[in-house]
Amino acid sequence: MNLSVQILLALVLSVAVGLGVGPEGLPFVNKWIAPIGTIFINFIKMMIVPVVFCSLIVGVTSLGGDGKKLGRISAKTIVLYLFTTAIAIVLGFTVAGIIHPGAGLEIAGKVAPKVKEAPTFMQVLVNMVPTNPIESMAKAQILPIIIFALFVGVGITQVGPKHSNPLVDFFDAAAEVCYKIIAMVMKFAPYGVFALLLPVVCKNGPKVLLPLLSVILCVAIGCILQCIIVYSTLASVGGGVSPLKFFRGMSEAMMIAFTTCSSAAALPVNLKNCQEKLGLSREVSSFVLPLGCTINMDGTALYMGVCSLFIANVFGVNLTTNDMVMIVFTGTLASIGTAGVPGAGLIMLAMVLQAVQLPMEGLALVAGIDRVLDMFRTCVNITGDGAVACVVDKSERSRM
Ligand code: ASP
Repeated sequence: MNLSVQILLALVLSVAVGLGVGPEGLPFVNKWIAPIGTIFINFIKMMIVPVVFCSLIVGVTSLGGDGKKLGRISAKTIVLYLFTTAIAIVLGFTVAGIIHPGAGLEIAGKVAPKVKEAPTFMQVLVNMVPTNPIESMAKAQILPIIIFALFVGVGITQVGPKHSNPLVDFFDAAAEVCYKIIAMVMKFAPYGVFALLLPVVCKNGPKVLLPLLSVILCVAIGCILQCIIVYSTLASVGGGVSPLKFFRGMSEAMMIAFTTCSSAAALPVNLKNCQEKLGLSREVSSFVLPLGCTINMDGTALYMGVCSLFIANVFGVNLTTNDMVMIVFTGTLASIGTAGVPGAGLIMLAMVLQAVQLPMEGLALVAGIDRVLDMFRTCVNITGDGAVACVVDKSERSRM
């Protein structure tokens, strides 16, 4: 049976068993079942630092190469990618701010959320630069690790092929190993999800279900808005392609992304259709789209915005403005490091939660419905690549 079906079954089973057992069985569940969930969360946490470090370096080095034109196209592409990603995450916040997913499910006290003192913006900037990257890694301080990885990545692209090639190969291979380990850990997910949710359901009863539906609704609405508002505008105003033509041209790749939950799987069709149906040049599309498949994950960023608000609501944590800025910042960067494969966004969500000290236990709630969320976000991920490709293509043509 497919893993996502197993995870969904684990969610259903944990609800059924939890409702049957009720609060009386909670001491037993806490003693014997809950630790299995903690082990699962520990495995996920174990992978955060290595996967962030290696995959970000791979993302940055994939921009390498030389030549003025490549530099110009890369710069335009990256600025647009970062811009659309930041909009997506803010959109996620806005929709979640209106719908309040998780508001009905208060499980505060379970993990006793810390009351945090908000650092000032300047403090955040100062703390971002690690004085000792190894120490930052040991303490899993995400932002300094991201900054270090970005600089290592840029450094690698500057030292010439003799030195850069082995390093690129090394980090590429290391990132692959990380993904493999994550795939192994995810095999354990049905048990982990069951063990994490059971105590929650025992304690809270049937009201745990509704908030999950509201998360799906938020992600779906956010994704649709991102497509209609942001991508239609980009394609038509910036790329000279009418929204109707754009979505028609993108539809096949969107469908593949929706059903496979993998940007990488949708890339070949996206490349073909952007060239044949939207008329984009091979030169631009064959650079912009694969790059987007690696570093541009708007749907994933939107999902991070929604899920972090959801988890904050569920655990009764009040997010400060600084926390929100931090989520936009880490979420944008995390989406760069997200691989275009199913479920990768969930691991990156762990990283965002860590950065603002939100309880990791919230991951279990999201994991149960992650496949459905993945369908929506992957679809948006590849559509965003197409929209940016239209803009870059038009601006390059107008130079000729
Ligand atoms: N499945 C997504 C993609 O391939 C990544 C994610 O999990 O967010 O684009």
